[in-house]
Amino acid sequence: MKSDSPKTFHIKSFGCQMNVYDGERMAEMLGARGMTAAADGADADLVVLNTCHIREKAAEKVYSDIGRLKRKDGSRPTIAVAGCVAQAEGAEIARRAPSVDVVVGPQAYHRLPDLLDRAARGEKAVDLDMPAMSKFDALPKRGAGQRPTAFLTVQEGCDKFCTYCVVPYTRGAEISRPYVDLVAEARALVEGGAREITLLGQNVNAWDGEDDRGRTVGLDGLIRDLARIDGLERLRYTTSHPNDMTDGLIAAHGEIAELMPYLHLPVQAGSDRILAAMNRSHSVDSYLRVIERVRAARPDIAISGDFIVGFPGESEEDFQATLDLIHQTRYAMAYSFKYSRRPGTPAATMDDQISEEVMHDRLQRLQALLNEQQHAFNAATVGQTTRLLLERKGKLDGQLIGKTPWLQSAHVIAPGLAIGDMVEVEILSAGPNSLGATMRQLQEA
Ligand code: SAM
Ligand code: SF4
Repeated sequence: MKSDSPKTFHIKSFGCQMNVYDGERMAEMLGARGMTAAADGADADLVVLNTCHIREKAAEKVYSDIGRLKRKDGSRPTIAVAGCVAQAEGAEIARRAPSVDVVVGPQAYHRLPDLLDRAARGEKAVDLDMPAMSKFDALPKRGAGQRPTAFLTVQEGCDKFCTYCVVPYTRGAEISRPYVDLVAEARALVEGGAREITLLGQNVNAWDGEDDRGRTVGLDGLIRDLARIDGLERLRYTTSHPNDMTDGLIAAHGEIAELMPYLHLPVQAGSDRILAAMNRSHSVDSYLRVIERVRAARPDIAISGDFIVGFPGESEEDFQATLDLIHQTRYAMAYSFKYSRRPGTPAATMDDQISEEVMHDRLQRLQALLNEQQHAFNAATVGQTTRLLLERKGKLDGQLIGKTPWLQSAHVIAPGLAIGDMVEVEILSAGPNSLGATMRQLQEA
């Protein structure tokens, strides 16, 4: 039982960028309550584990993490489990891990302060409510001290029900945040120092809303209006579903200079038979057509994706079809996973589950091809002049690391420049994961 209210906190976010965003909002909320971020996580009075339930490994890790939580003086911090494991496993967490004080789902974390008060009174505080949108209204406004790159959740939840995926159950139905709120939050982020904003959603391109003149707009309309904010130089969005790539959004890639030439468009598999069993509701052909049209609108666009190998019933022939699709698409980068059987999803009870050995072998082959393509994409940028938004310090003296428009990390010796500056560079070298660059002005001098 906890008797003192915690004064310092440490938030550990796992999984997707939406969890990172939620973690930042929780930190702002705890800050508004007078709590401070602990300089060293191991000293914090409160530890929030902001969890991910997408694959079994990520979900199970939470329990070992909880078991290890101790402060330097040997005492136990107040422990809150937030995020999708909290939503999916609920009160079961407090039973399996009695040291947990608070369990809060991803749609209820605005109530964290109240839950902490209840925990301080010795209660096990559990809140897994999914109230429509009230979370964002209840959070404090964004303020000063933003990093140069910021996340902005515009859409949450998913109605697609892919047969392998827990998101529709843990994050709930698709909801778009109102246009006016998003414009206001984006302005606050830019006023606070952000120069790039990534719009987030489980199905971000399903976002729609009414603009300030009462017209129904899609994500392209929102991007167009956000691009007009003074000081906002770059916009990105992730993650998109192929079926929600509208004509307007495709065209936006050729029309809006602030919209960076990068599209994360997961396909998961390259066999129509497997896509149907996954309930993806798109085909290989329709996916490739979208890629073709996006490339016609913005020829230099970097394409990234997500892949699952070893979905139930996947034959070697189906897997070869996935490799074929990768050859045709030519990815700049991609995430790839072994299929993970998630309780409660339709695929978990499908016949013909694939063995660990086969999945391992397919993942190795798929990743070898994807790594080759990533390296080739990086190598093709050598010799180009481009702009980096500087995000962090590098290992060497005076070295800073920034991102190219294509989301590659590049390091540059940049005397006199600081994090948050935009710099024109020439790309000199390319590795599989990063680029070396030199400042243009220095070269010309
Ligand atoms: N909504 C996005 C989409 O449909 O592409 C992605 C959301 S999900 C958080 C991110 C990725 O996790 C998916 O694209 C998929 O590749 C992977 N994923 C989801 N469920 C999985 C499972 N049961 N096993 C392995 N990978 C999974
Ligand atoms: Fe999961 Fe499919 Fe929804 Fe993406 S579209 S979040 S993979 S159900």
